[in-house]
Amino acid sequence: MFKKLFASDGGNLKSGVAYAILAIAVACGGYFVYATWTSGDRPLVSTVMCANSSCNHVDQRAQEVGEDWPQKCPKCGQQTLFVAFNCRKCAAPNIWNENRGLRPPTRCTQCGQENRHGS
Ligand SMILES: [Zn+2]
Ligand SMILES: [Zn+2]
Repeated sequence: MFKKLFASDGGNLKSGVAYAILAIAVACGGYFVYATWTSGDRPLVSTVMCANSSCNHVDQRAQEVGEDWPQKCPKCGQQTLFVAFNCRKCAAPNIWNENRGLRPPTRCTQCGQENRHGS
C-alpha cells in the first residue's frame, strides 16, 4: 500500500514537471509571436554618420519624425551627425555631398560609385 502511494506521488510529480515545461514553452512561443506581431510598429532604424573626417562615427539608431539634422555627434561632440544613405552598388553607408556642403554626385567612400538622389 505504501509502495502504491509512493508510485502515485511520483506520477503526480512527473506530470507536474511536464505541465511546467509546457507552460514555459507556451509562454516562450507566445512571446515570439508577440515580438513578431509588434515588430512592424517599431520606428525606422537609420544609419547615422559623422561628417567630421577625423571622427567618422557610424551608428544605427531609430529616427523620429520631425528631427533636425545635423545632430550632435556622440563621439566628437560636433554638430556633424547626418542620416546616411546606402550606396546603390555596394550598400556601404555614406553621407550625401549636399549634407557636407559639397556638390553632387556623392562618391561612395568604399567603391567610388557615384550616387545621386532618386537613382
Ligand atoms: Zn563625430
Ligand atoms: Zn559603394
